[in-house]
Amino acid sequence: MFQEKENNTIVIGGESVAPGEEKLLKIGIDRLPTGTLIDIPVYVFNAKKPGPTILVQAGLHGDEINGIEIVRRMLQQKRFNIRSGAVIAVPILNIFGFIHFSRDVPDGKDVNRSFPGKKSGSLASRMAYHYVSQIMHQMDFAIDLHTGGAQRHNFPQVRFTHEDGTSKELAKIFNAPFLFSSRLIKGSFREAAYRMGKPTIVFEAGESMRFDDYAILEGMQGILNVLKHLKMISKVEPFYVERMNSVLLTNRKWLRAPTAGMFIPELTNGSEIKKGQEIGLITDTYARHSKKIKAPYDGFVFSINNQAVVNQGDALFHIGK
Ligand SMILES: [Zn+2]
Repeated sequence: MFQEKENNTIVIGGESVAPGEEKLLKIGIDRLPTGTLIDIPVYVFNAKKPGPTILVQAGLHGDEINGIEIVRRMLQQKRFNIRSGAVIAVPILNIFGFIHFSRDVPDGKDVNRSFPGKKSGSLASRMAYHYVSQIMHQMDFAIDLHTGGAQRHNFPQVRFTHEDGTSKELAKIFNAPFLFSSRLIKGSFREAAYRMGKPTIVFEAGESMRFDDYAILEGMQGILNVLKHLKMISKVEPFYVERMNSVLLTNRKWLRAPTAGMFIPELTNGSEIKKGQEIGLITDTYARHSKKIKAPYDGFVFSINNQAVVNQGDALFHIGK
């Protein structure tokens, strides 16, 4: 009897998820000083029909919670019930940072600068090591969910790797409002994935420690767009956000504070700007002086610093065209 080839079995932490199964697994990482075991929850959805394995992960930076909510809602709405291939969904990679409202692990190291990691390295390095050995070698593609760091609010945007054409394709299919290539940061998850030949995109939306419903919906929509393109789901309905075409930014720069003071943005994030347009103010606290921030070219604002009090040179607006 003819039998169609089955999908691969996925093995994480010594547990197998055979084609047709879905399981919640845990990767044991370390204990808190009190003895409580810290493990990373990993959901695996393995369809019978063969197809790609896609990793959807959030919380690599523990305080970037929009991605965590994106994965949670996708799980709650059973959006990973795929018909082919496999989804590995990791709602919170950096559990330590999450419980401390922090980007990093308790020793101040950034897991996203610690890849590929070492078995006997620092905590961040060990986490990266386990992640590479347990999960990354089994994936074909990855979607890494982030927000702006500190108080910077990123309008929903996807970053791809210039050297990797497939990641650019994925970024287009994701269809966030903005996309652009960004350089590979040493020690980042994306760099490690690139070196392993696994195309990866990074979705950045909103700011740390704040839910942003629009950012969350854009993320859910983008993931579904990718799953649909890979034929892992048959349709994308209902739509979470209205379809519009992504804007590809090929030139980006930060506008920085010309002087210290209070920063008052005068437009909303994601706005189109015209050369010479006043887009914000830096004022003193006595209503004596203020400096206008003007758009240097026609383009878009895709990140705004929500820090009200700024020092000279602080990043204010990330703009691109
Ligand atoms: Zn991040």
